[in-house]
Amino acid sequence: MTLPETFVFSAKNLQSYADCPRRFQLRYVERWRSPTMTAAETADELAYEKRVRQGAKLHQLAKLSQQGIPQDLLKAAIQDDNVALWFDELLSSALHDLPGTRLPEKRLQTSLNGRRLMAQVDLLAYEPGGDFVIVDWKTGNYVPDRESLRQRWQTIVYLYVAAKAGERLYGAELPAERVRLDYVYLARGGQRISFAYSPEQMRADAALLSGLMDEIQSVSDFPLTANRRHCRFCAFRVHCERGEAGSLDHVDFDDLDETGDAELDFEQIGEYAF
Ligand code: SF4
Repeated sequence: MTLPETFVFSAKNLQSYADCPRRFQLRYVERWRSPTMTAAETADELAYEKRVRQGAKLHQLAKLSQQGIPQDLLKAAIQDDNVALWFDELLSSALHDLPGTRLPEKRLQTSLNGRRLMAQVDLLAYEPGGDFVIVDWKTGNYVPDRESLRQRWQTIVYLYVAAKAGERLYGAELPAERVRLDYVYLARGGQRISFAYSPEQMRADAALLSGLMDEIQSVSDFPLTANRRHCRFCAFRVHCERGEAGSLDHVDFDDLDETGDAELDFEQIGEYAF
């Protein structure tokens, strides 16, 4: 299969392919819009959609806070207790020891063997000559084990792209050892799981990324996943005839490729409820 020349690989579309080739095809090749999950939504589906919206609100608040909007103004606009708790955690402990230059919702892009590869990170925090830290806010209760997290395409893509594309921001050569990824679990008291980087790991990640991108460009068939766990809250579940929604346990609400968080203008803050 030939992807358009403009196609940009990302953590989300690579993870989507790894989880289910058919989902990748529907969403990124055929560009289906997310259908409504079912005609009659179940309580679990409604709870799922509510949690997705809560996560998106937290990410908007984090971005606006880092852009300089007064915290009091943002807090006053929050109407959801969970979002309020997560935002308090973010402000009180999650940011205090990060490097001083901070860029929220930063898109980094590089290329690998002629393919474009990008990372849209929640927060980039760095100092010239110091650490170059990618921060990813998590609002779920579920914390995967460290090895599973290391193997996720989000971890691989974020670290690789930051190490390769970060030099321009850093203002000097950026050694891989200066790059770090912090997952911060706001619903778990700000628990942090950090991954340092190295030239050896960067080479290994480049090989993994090349291998997966080669595979995606060479396949002609996109089968349904054999792991029905990935179907539980997939937007294409009805189309694929993959049954009822499952448990909300272990869903990573901050790492879904269904989420599309709308941009919010500063002027809207006063009339927007989080
Ligand atoms: S419902 Fe299951 S098989 Fe169908 S696209 Fe989603 S994850 Fe893949």
